[in-house]
Amino acid sequence: MALMANALAVERASLRYGKFQALKDVTFSASQGQLITLLGPSGCGKTTLLKAIAGFMPLDSGRIDIFGRDMQGVPPEKRDTAMCFQSYALFPHLSVADNIGFGLRQRRLSAAEIATRVSSVAEQVGLSLQLQKLPGQLSGGQQQRVALARAMAVRPGVMLFDEPLSNLDAKLRDHVRMEIRALQREHGFTAVYVTHDQSEALAMSDLVIVMRAGVIEQMGRPEEIYRHPVNRFVADFIGTANIMPVRILSRDQARGEYHVTCPLGQAVIRSATPPVGDHLYACWRPEDTVVATDSGNDNRFTFKVSARTFLGSLCDLSVSPTEDASVCYRIQTHGSTPVSEGQTVDVVIPPDTIRFLDEAIA
Ligand code: ATP
Repeated sequence: MALMANALAVERASLRYGKFQALKDVTFSASQGQLITLLGPSGCGKTTLLKAIAGFMPLDSGRIDIFGRDMQGVPPEKRDTAMCFQSYALFPHLSVADNIGFGLRQRRLSAAEIATRVSSVAEQVGLSLQLQKLPGQLSGGQQQRVALARAMAVRPGVMLFDEPLSNLDAKLRDHVRMEIRALQREHGFTAVYVTHDQSEALAMSDLVIVMRAGVIEQMGRPEEIYRHPVNRFVADFIGTANIMPVRILSRDQARGEYHVTCPLGQAVIRSATPPVGDHLYACWRPEDTVVATDSGNDNRFTFKVSARTFLGSLCDLSVSPTEDASVCYRIQTHGSTPVSEGQTVDVVIPPDTIRFLDEAIA
């Protein structure tokens, strides 16, 4: 049965390279106009999944529907997709205009239609004055825009981006990233965007899919993934997380309050989701900590500061419990907090900012 209503639906997609399982039972869907990022470390299968959606790699099992149509056996040029690559893959001997129009010629559009589309998309990405140049006469950022324009000119229902900004310097990357998001919103196309940069994924996406070793570890809105990681891998991969083993001492499930013992001593965790077992991992973010001002708080701990990095409005501290220098945590304070290396600092970790993660082997 076709999976209607979604621009893209991937269902239990699996793919092997020989004996190596590159994708295993990957399932997700995107509604029209959503930007989804596939995020994960090198080799986790992001590009493979993108190629399978584009039709360059056949699945071993599972299915991919685009706008409700099963894509099995449908070649890339007959899918409503276009791919924008990490390496711009421009034709060096073709002008910018001919590079942008390449997919349109493949689709046998009329010369007049090609000329109209090329000039309109070139204007949108700020390349109108570069159309007669060769790619070698452009800067890296301009070449990236040609690749983007070439994909956009096709007006695909689903745009596939494979790390399109990884060759740009940091400033240009921010700029082009905002441009892609603006164009995507304006044109309403659905986008699947591959990156291994977590800040890029958090900044751009409607939905983030975190992958590891060919499997989806978690998917959700950026805030959800950041605030409620389901396991150590996701917590550690997204942002900075202090991860520690905890053992449950008592549970008040009705109030969602749990007393635990952990490397910091005894702590209270408030969680709407009950922990999965009695021995598990929990995490807290550096920015959720508060330097204690009075003595009457839950989860107040004394740390010794081993390193202090002044960041302007904020200060990053590496700290260890006073009686155990072997564990190190990161906390963040206001830049003006008067604390230096070697000193101790009293810190509160609010009980509702500590998240239970996956089970630990006792
Ligand atoms: P990166 O961020 O480094 O681009 P990725 O998440 O996109 O990584 P893929 O390129 O999808 O990862 O590769 C997934 C796994 O499949 C990797 O372990 C890779 O070595 C392997 N792989 C990719 N292409 C082939 C191939 N043609 N033959 C055999 N193995 C392959």
